[in-house]
Amino acid sequence: GLGLGLGLGLGHVNVGGRVPLGLKRKTLRVLVTGGAGFVGSHLVDRLIERGDSVIVVDNLFTGRKENLVQHFGNPRFELIRHDVVEPILLEVDQIYHLACPASPVHYKYNPTNVVGTLNMLGLAKRVGARFLLTSTSEVYGVRSCYDEGKRTAETLTMDYHRGLGIEVRIARIFNTYGPRMCIDDGRVVSNFVAQALRKEPLTVYGDGKQTRSFQYVSDLVEGLMRLMEGDHVGPFNLGNPGEFTMLELAQVVQETIDPNAKIEFRPNTEDDPHKRKPDITKAEELLGWQPTISLRKGLPLMVEDFRQRIFGDQKDTTV
Ligand code: NAD
Ligand code: UDP
Ligand code: UDP
Repeated sequence: GLGLGLGLGLGHVNVGGRVPLGLKRKTLRVLVTGGAGFVGSHLVDRLIERGDSVIVVDNLFTGRKENLVQHFGNPRFELIRHDVVEPILLEVDQIYHLACPASPVHYKYNPTNVVGTLNMLGLAKRVGARFLLTSTSEVYGVRSCYDEGKRTAETLTMDYHRGLGIEVRIARIFNTYGPRMCIDDGRVVSNFVAQALRKEPLTVYGDGKQTRSFQYVSDLVEGLMRLMEGDHVGPFNLGNPGEFTMLELAQVVQETIDPNAKIEFRPNTEDDPHKRKPDITKAEELLGWQPTISLRKGLPLMVEDFRQRIFGDQKDTTV
């Protein structure tokens, strides 16, 4: 079955400039840890589409089988329920390491970022696979044990690269949204979209003048794949430089879902960054990557998914 589906994805395969368009490319065996989660499942869609064999390792803590159900029965797809904190033996060519406790609200301390990353680097070393770490914009500011975990993961990754010659890639991901996003982990986009759909007020923390830059998930996945296929270690910032205040975001959500949605102000946390916007010059220059989906284009693309997950069968009668 090698080479199956290549016709579909050739445009995507040529990302690193290493496979001339039109030439057949070896089917890769790709491991995606955290592949049942929000970003990971979209990445798996693209890898399967371009003809790769994909193994997902996920403990399903915040990930969901439903995110991958479209691949069940495909011989090029396999889901293993496993915690990356435990060693595992697999034979693969590439490892996208996304497994991570979802957001700081979920856990105070979790060994996934450290022990899980060490295990996946050990696996990369044993089989000679290329390893990509999804780090976070949070490494630029001190806030929680979440960013400490990611910083340690970056350090381990560079240690394996410099000390043992393992091929590694590091992405620092900025706020990302889209279908399959966790509905209630407290992120602002998922909160606002769910609130607008439920006819609840949009909860703006603080004065709402703090800014974030929101990246649509397919742009991120394209960036991750270019990074993996390219020749540069990184770290690369992957995010959408379009900057919005939380009040502006609320307005886009109103325009997209419900113009009558109310806004309710709530106290903000003290350490909330006032501004966050990625500098993506390096990714533009070395990966030839930049996001293509603006917030106004991307937001509507997640509404139907949220509607279905929130209202389920009642969908037709409640909206
Ligand atoms: P997510 O929670 O949807 O996905 C993480 C996945 O990892 C889940 O499926 C979860 O079940 C799995 N997982 C957690 N601990 C595990 C363990 N010990 N063993 C195996 N599986 C485990 O989150 P996401 O938004 O898809 O994030 C994916 C990656 O991108 C993470 O590394 C995250 O830190 C990074 N990131 C995401 C954003 C964002 O805005 N979404 C921003 C910065 C960084
Ligand atoms: N490891 C793993 N799968 C493998 C190879 C290694 O889970 O295929 C784990 C291994 O159990 C260890 C970690 O990765 O805990 C680091 O492995 P490495 O060989 O780099 O270090 P060592 O075992 O020599 O300390
Ligand atoms: N936020 C908000 N209302 C919410 C959730 C979050 O105004 O219901 C704000 C939060 O204070 C922060 C911004 O939105 O300023 C982004 O928060 P999120 O948790 O989504 O991402 P992060 O802070 O990690 O960038």
